[in-house]
Amino acid sequence: MAAELNFTAAPSLGRLCRWLRTLGFDCVYLHQEAPAQLDRSCAGRIYLTRHIDPEQRHVIFIGQDEVFDQLRVMDMLISLKHRSNPLSRCIHCNTALIDSNRGAAGREVPEHILQSHDRFTTCPSCGRIYWPGTHVDRMKERIRDLFA
Ligand SMILES: [Zn+2]
Repeated sequence: MAAELNFTAAPSLGRLCRWLRTLGFDCVYLHQEAPAQLDRSCAGRIYLTRHIDPEQRHVIFIGQDEVFDQLRVMDMLISLKHRSNPLSRCIHCNTALIDSNRGAAGREVPEHILQSHDRFTTCPSCGRIYWPGTHVDRMKERIRDLFA
């Protein structure tokens, strides 16, 4: 297992942050640009920013506008592909998901979803429940294209 990569994303990189979470990476989203001396929210993390600041260390400068271009550049620099674990993390709150069964998901999930699925993942932090579906298939396809 390769070393874990943890990120902090600058305010202008919300989409990139969500896609990194989709790929399974721990990514904290900042609502304000980090100061030159990175604070505790960035400790041990790679800071992703669109602002060039030579004072900062552990920074990846993101010059591309489109999120998949941004991800491709990051993959070239730090090999995201081999360290990713898609759909293992809550894209809303950045918490690692846990497997859950139909019984546990039953209260929160629509009946027709419950009937047609038996595997769910749950976010232990915000309580969101995820299940396979067309949305997930589309995401997987985009991830395959990204790393092709
Ligand atoms: Zn969550």
